[in-house]
Amino acid sequence: MRCPTCAHSESRVVDSRTTGDSIRRRRQCAQCGTRFTTFERIERKLPWVVKRDGRREPYNREKVLHGITLACRKRPLNPGDIEAAAKRVESRLEGMPEVTAQAVGDAVLAVLREIDPVAYVRFASVYQQFESVEQFVDTIVPLREPT
Ligand SMILES: [Zn+2]
Repeated sequence: MRCPTCAHSESRVVDSRTTGDSIRRRRQCAQCGTRFTTFERIERKLPWVVKRDGRREPYNREKVLHGITLACRKRPLNPGDIEAAAKRVESRLEGMPEVTAQAVGDAVLAVLREIDPVAYVRFASVYQQFESVEQFVDTIVPLREPT
């Protein structure tokens, strides 16, 4: 890690703290004294998602978050729970080179079943008529009544 000011390659860590799944380090250049920040994060290897028509797309966390959010609407969960649920979905998929869109939906179902029975039933009853989380989201969104 080179100093942004003088490009010297040695620095010392003056502070470090963990936030979620990353570590933030304050460093000080051993040569010029410039302080800078670096982040260390676990690399998550998430699969490609194969749709029914054979097209592939990268795993999309937004779609999964959105699907979980809709299923958990008006349930006693906070945004942190939704985020944690998405991470659990990802843990189930991590390391596989590719999965079907249905496998992503099944992973969401498995996680919802553990965290909220109502959200699980809601997601299951609607989702199982569709081929993917994406389609579930596309279909549910226009039906949402104004809040
Ligand atoms: Zn420097």
